Amino acid sequence: MVKKCSKCNKPSITFIRYNGTHLCKEHFIEYFEKRVKKEIKKQGKTESGSRIGVALSGGKDSTVTLFMLKKIFSKRKDVDLFAISVDEGIKDYRDKSLKIARENCKEIEVEHHIISFKETIGYTLDEIVSKSKDLGECTYCGVFRRFCLNKKARELELNKIATGHNLDDFSQSILMNFVNGDLEKLARLGPHIKVQPGLIPRILPLRVIPEKEVTLYAIINNIKFYDGICPYSIHALRGKFRDILDELEYINPGTRHSIVKSYDGIKDILIQKFPPAKLNKCKICGEPTSQEICKACELLRSLK
Ligand code: SF4
Ligand SMILES: [Zn+2]
Ligand SMILES: [Zn+2]
Repeated sequence: MVKKCSKCNKPSITFIRYNGTHLCKEHFIEYFEKRVKKEIKKQGKTESGSRIGVALSGGKDSTVTLFMLKKIFSKRKDVDLFAISVDEGIKDYRDKSLKIARENCKEIEVEHHIISFKETIGYTLDEIVSKSKDLGECTYCGVFRRFCLNKKARELELNKIATGHNLDDFSQSILMNFVNGDLEKLARLGPHIKVQPGLIPRILPLRVIPEKEVTLYAIINNIKFYDGICPYSIHALRGKFRDILDELEYINPGTRHSIVKSYDGIKDILIQKFPPAKLNKCKICGEPTSQEICKACELLRSLK
């Protein structure tokens, strides 16, 4: 028998295990949007004249982030929204997701910018992988993606970049940094409340929304997204953490939320212990870095 919504009498479309409620379509959408709005407010004031960029891959998380920000800020004429996609150059994967990203931006009339690894650093990720076996694919990908995103965001004079990280991603990152003992990285996970010169602060509007709910929200709102999997993701360590957290969440519903809550509770202390380093300009490319040469230039040098 179909369960009834816990808030009204309509048939429920989902069961939210961590709080024990059944929700119909309307109440699920309301529940979803309320939390995203609250999170955006919590992550810093959106000043008049703000220029916000969404890091858009075309996957469900970044696409839902874009649609939500459009919905929230479309009434504010003093806020401009942009989408930035990074084309890493992953054949049969990124080309497909970028096509959907383009179509979505066109549909909801958001200015879309694409920046590619090939044009910016000289190599596609596929070329990097065939050249180097030293580090994992995701290490190169992550460093160069951040580099491209920051570069484009600065060109567009953005004040904030919104990323699509959901609760599953965010709690995995917290756990991974704890397990690796990387407290400094933990302190910088974002959202970034304080602004550092040269760096564009990140906001994470979906960081308290479970992945499953993001997918459901996209489906019931007919939001098109790309659901392919990166061919290199099988090598990513993150998958192990995902499995562990899924199991913990199953045994103890609410685990992921508790991890984020604990993180928020100690974040100020972490930042006090690891205050933002004074940033220099990279001697090669001019991007902000705490060293003499930025990580992207360092990796590029090793590739050459
Ligand atoms: S799985 Fe790794 S290589 Fe693939 S897009 Fe993500 S970070 Fe890049
Ligand atoms: Zn209802
Ligand atoms: Zn550099």
